Amino acid sequence: MSFPSSEAECRSTCGLCKREAIAAHGPFNGRLVVHIGDGYSDLCAARQADIVFARADLARFLDKEGITYHAFEDFFEVIRVLDAETPETPETPRREPTGGGRQAG
Ligand SMILES: [Zn+2]
Repeated sequence: MSFPSSEAECRSTCGLCKREAIAAHGPFNGRLVVHIGDGYSDLCAARQADIVFARADLARFLDKEGITYHAFEDFFEVIRVLDAETPETPETPRREPTGGGRQAG
């Protein structure tokens, strides 16, 4: 996986670069990268994520850059959107509970 913006640029603006933290978990092999944040330090991770949840300062920065995101107030909202937007595919296996059925949300 490669990123268009340089690490040098990133280090000068991010205190702790969350984009690099995300990249460390790759390769993602087609799985979606979701970033949830509220501040400037989330910006460069949000630029790279497939799905972004933003509030407060991060939402304002993303508005300026024209980057699409989901506004959120709490994590129940995040879960609801992710359930609706992420189809279950062989690339995104989920562990099913053993012995019982899934509970409807
Ligand atoms: Zn960064």
